[in-house]
Amino acid sequence: MSERVYIGLGSNLNHPERQLNDALQALAALPDTRLLMQSRFYASKPQGPQDQPDFMNAVCLLETDLSPVALLKALQQIEQSQGRIKKRHWGERLIDLDILLYGDQSIQTAELTVPHKEMATRDFVLLPLAEISPGRVIPGMGSVETLIAQLEQTFVVPWVALDSNQSA
Ligand code: ADP
Ligand code: MG
Repeated sequence: MSERVYIGLGSNLNHPERQLNDALQALAALPDTRLLMQSRFYASKPQGPQDQPDFMNAVCLLETDLSPVALLKALQQIEQSQGRIKKRHWGERLIDLDILLYGDQSIQTAELTVPHKEMATRDFVLLPLAEISPGRVIPGMGSVETLIAQLEQTFVVPWVALDSNQSA
């Protein structure tokens, strides 16, 4: 049976917008999986160490027959193939792919927590999620709009590609 799954994407190294586009292509090419929607790209300040480049984030919606664990393994393979090197916790990375929501399932295993446990407080997840899924209720946490209203501050902004001929 297929499920609707929301994936959070993030990158802050080596042309983040290219990393996100490559990852979206790889997600669309997964077996028994369709890419249904993708948000705009959003620019955000790093969490954790500040001496690293800004992040680019997005959220996409997949429809997949892959089980949660099979999907996690597939995401990890995409991360590896894009050369992810984990340098430090919450540090810089080429691409990070997280399972935010898997249908309306709650999953608690050693390798997987769904809904993603930090999503309720992350502006760079909530804003792109609200864009592609307004009114979405996150099991046990509330609606995406309620969660956004509860953020103390948001730093994330939709990212607009600058025309390379434009001078500053
Ligand atoms: P983070 O995303 O927290 O910066 P990683 O991407 O390195 O860190 O993830 C570390 C571990 O998080 C993975 O090995 C994976 O097993 C686990 N994990 C737990 N829940 C999830 C989820 N919903 N999506 C992706 N990974 C998850
Ligand atoms: Mg991750």
